[in-house]
Amino acid sequence: MKQTRFEFESLAELEEKLAEFKTSCKSGERRVFQIHTEDLRAETFSEVGKAIEKHFPDDLYFGCSTSGNIVNCKLYETTTLVCTTIERETTQVKLFQYDTSKMPVDDITAEIVEQTKKNPWVRAIEMYFTIPETSTTRFCDGLRDVPDGVHIFGGVACSDDITSSDSCVFSKVFGFSEKSILIIFYGGEDFYVESINATGWKPLGRKFIVTKSDGSILHELDGIPAYQVYKTYLNIKNDENFFYNTLEFPLFYEHNDTTILRTPVASNADDSITMSSDIDVGSVVRLCYGDPVTIVESIKQDSLKIAEFQPDVIHIFSCAARRAFWSTQEPTFEIYPFKSIAPSVGFFSHGEFIRYKNNLNQHNVTLVIAAMREGEKKASEVKTVTLDETPQSRVPLVSRLATFISVTALELEETNKKLESMNDQLKTAAIVDGLTGLYNRKEIQSRIDRSLKEIDNRNLSLIMLDIDNFKQVNDTYGHQEGDNVIIALANILNNRQSAFSGTCSAGRWGGEEFMMLLHNTDASSAALIADLVRQLFASTPFPLARMQTVSLGVTQAKAGDTTDALCTRVDTALYEAKKAGKNRVVVL
Ligand code: GH3
Ligand code: MG
Ligand code: MG
Repeated sequence: MKQTRFEFESLAELEEKLAEFKTSCKSGERRVFQIHTEDLRAETFSEVGKAIEKHFPDDLYFGCSTSGNIVNCKLYETTTLVCTTIERETTQVKLFQYDTSKMPVDDITAEIVEQTKKNPWVRAIEMYFTIPETSTTRFCDGLRDVPDGVHIFGGVACSDDITSSDSCVFSKVFGFSEKSILIIFYGGEDFYVESINATGWKPLGRKFIVTKSDGSILHELDGIPAYQVYKTYLNIKNDENFFYNTLEFPLFYEHNDTTILRTPVASNADDSITMSSDIDVGSVVRLCYGDPVTIVESIKQDSLKIAEFQPDVIHIFSCAARRAFWSTQEPTFEIYPFKSIAPSVGFFSHGEFIRYKNNLNQHNVTLVIAAMREGEKKASEVKTVTLDETPQSRVPLVSRLATFISVTALELEETNKKLESMNDQLKTAAIVDGLTGLYNRKEIQSRIDRSLKEIDNRNLSLIMLDIDNFKQVNDTYGHQEGDNVIIALANILNNRQSAFSGTCSAGRWGGEEFMMLLHNTDASSAALIADLVRQLFASTPFPLARMQTVSLGVTQAKAGDTTDALCTRVDTALYEAKKAGKNRVVVL
């Protein structure tokens, strides 16, 4: 692949340059022309399109409106035309354009997925969107079935006014449109592609949970109006500088295993914030901070991966917000490291797309870099990154402070997590008996209290259990074996709990006495359960104490019963069982 840029001030000059270019083209080569401009008039595109068609009737062309064009890592604010020459016969390129005002988004994504299956040579899908009216999440999710490993990247067209929703795309297959998606397939057996995204913005401070949002309107973070977060933590005023002041501090969150940034665009009267794109309720977000030196250093590192790939051409989708961020210097300054790697073309966009782990995501404030190459890497041609054009400087104090705040916040979150888990353990310890894991007496008593107060307490029964001749077990085989016998009975009660699917609570009433509270169970059913427990325990062998038995009392709650009255009655039933010879169930 090769890239050629056409510089022209008039159509006549462009025609002349195209004619001259044609003489240098080799047979067998094919071309894809890209038109980018901040000018949104249909004529601007169609005039250039016609000129291309005249000289290269068999070749493809497309374009979009931008917030600044990028060619060879330099910003152009006039109309730019760039041609990518396809040199290998095996490389294929296909162009589609879908009208979003006529075709539902699901039909568009289904059609793209089908086309990728019909064209198994596809290795990369490039996308140019006009500014969408609603979230692009549905579009992104719709491309999940694009075959694994196919790279997807692109950007949203826009205009020089970052707050305007005007944008357009243009292509050979459909012409000019203010509501369309352009799709370009690249592939073939000699075609290679790599894509990365980079921001350089770093998380700062504690996490917030999005508790209320509606598309791109962010209402609340942790139940607090979103604007109040910016006011409280960053002292950013709700004035005409809001956009520029918040640009340094976008929101950062993890989605589909990757980091997404959303930047505040405007603050609203109800203290909600209009964001650059949607953020779902439940997302865990953090403020993040853009420090110039850190950003440049981080992009330098990312550029090494692209250099290693040895691309023929690079496509760059940078956010218009980044252009605004670098307002005091050349806005493409941060991408200079890519200059020495390969020729590049791209633009400042309204949203950047990249597929990661087979999920397509829409980013903001992000750089998406797609590197393409025909043929294998050449061992002799290791491209190095020229980094000396970017200033080497010490990490500034503000960046160190941002790191300090971020690390401190993470440490606090870690400590909080430990405290929460200890709190849970304490809560459990307060209601559970240590030896058996059953509820303790206080808890089972309060459960009986509560159950008696419930309106529908008619089928409420108690079973009280006491191990027979237990003193002998302790005296003969020792306290440890005694404990084993207690635990074995507790396990039977625990297992029973699941068999009764939530109707039973079992607790340790005292030494070797237990209480079962059964909902929706009358006395006769409770008696059957009690006998089942008796039989299970009687058939449990112990290493020393061999076979043991248990006596059980059963009673059902009557109208007007207090906890005391009910417990006394079940205790009496148990006493009767002991008196009648033990290892039995008595119902009272
Ligand atoms: P009965 O058949 O009439 O119930 O006779 P028993 O020997 O079982 O008499 P009782 O129920 O009064 O015995 C309770 C014994 O349980 C007394 C105490 O030493 C023992 N015990 C209480 N708590 C524990 C414990 O946690 N572990 C052990 N090993 N023994 C305990
Ligand atoms: Mg006892
Ligand atoms: Mg006993």
